[in-house]
Amino acid sequence: MKIDNIDVYLVSTAVKGNIADSTRQVESVGYVIVRLTTDTGLTGIGLTYHEVGGEGIRQLILKNLSTRVIGKDPFDTEAIWEDMINYMRGVGRKGLAFCALSAIDIALWDLKGKIVGLPLYKLLGGYRKKIPVYASGGWTSYTPDQLVAELQGMVADGYKVVKFKVGVKEGKCPEEDIERVKYVRKKLGPNIGIMIDANNAYQASTAIRVGRQLEDSNIYLFEEPVIADDMEGLAHVRASINIPIATGEHEYTKYGMRDLLLNKAVDIVQFDVTRCGGITEWMKMAAIAQAWNVVVAPHCMDYMHMHLVGAIPNGLMLERILTFEPVSELVFVDPPQPKDGFLEIPDKPGLGLTLNEENIKKFNE
Ligand SMILES: [Mg+2]
Repeated sequence: MKIDNIDVYLVSTAVKGNIADSTRQVESVGYVIVRLTTDTGLTGIGLTYHEVGGEGIRQLILKNLSTRVIGKDPFDTEAIWEDMINYMRGVGRKGLAFCALSAIDIALWDLKGKIVGLPLYKLLGGYRKKIPVYASGGWTSYTPDQLVAELQGMVADGYKVVKFKVGVKEGKCPEEDIERVKYVRKKLGPNIGIMIDANNAYQASTAIRVGRQLEDSNIYLFEEPVIADDMEGLAHVRASINIPIATGEHEYTKYGMRDLLLNKAVDIVQFDVTRCGGITEWMKMAAIAQAWNVVVAPHCMDYMHMHLVGAIPNGLMLERILTFEPVSELVFVDPPQPKDGFLEIPDKPGLGLTLNEENIKKFNE
């Protein structure tokens, strides 16, 4: 069996309201969707995001990476991955190029699942099929009462753990952040898990000041307190406060995973299959984390990550970013919905996702 064709589709939707975190305004959310077709007519799909650069990802796949995939056996994922890496050696070590590579690799794995007739979590390891999921939102652009209202809505929908943003006014008002977190804890009560995400906003010294003053607020995790590239700063924060540190949504490959661990910079890793190198690489990163007794709570894309967290023993939880729900409803037919804070993996082959062909066509005419 050989890959015969690659199609790439873009879907994007405008975000309603004033949605911003500490370091960027979110104006639109969307997916780049890769569809591989074999010479026997089977198809596999893979996805990545495009907050920025979707057209660039599409062109890189269609004009360049397609030449490394067409004619190949979909089961040769290691060989295809290595070939794509070598081909992009000088220009594609992170960023958009890795989004493109990741989407292709995911589509190959979806195909493999469909060929053998197994859901991916079974094919990859089969650890569990019901995974805890937390709700994520709570933007810094909200007033404290808007923030609490959104989080209370999440709790009313059955979530036991919620995540919101800190770093108001681009991280320049840490005292306001501390007040907001304490206000949320007071309003949600003691039994809801609270995660906070600074989206790279602080210097290490500020993050330590914020963290120390929140140590009695029972914070589940403190995410990306400093810029993702500052592993030493992150290690300094981790060693200085008594709150678990999470990071990794901006990390790539097994080498990035190794460096986070060697720097003692992380308690909970959050690498994202749609960026870090696809399923082939994600599984290796998870195994490296396991060797350091570190748990994995991947960033966003709960529909795909459920298969991966469902295949490993050191998976913690899935993230469901509420801002992505409308675009996911457009792209997929009947996407899985969480119930009482859990997602259950459906018994369908591959990723188990069906594209809404009509909507995809409308966006790509
Ligand atoms: Mg984050």
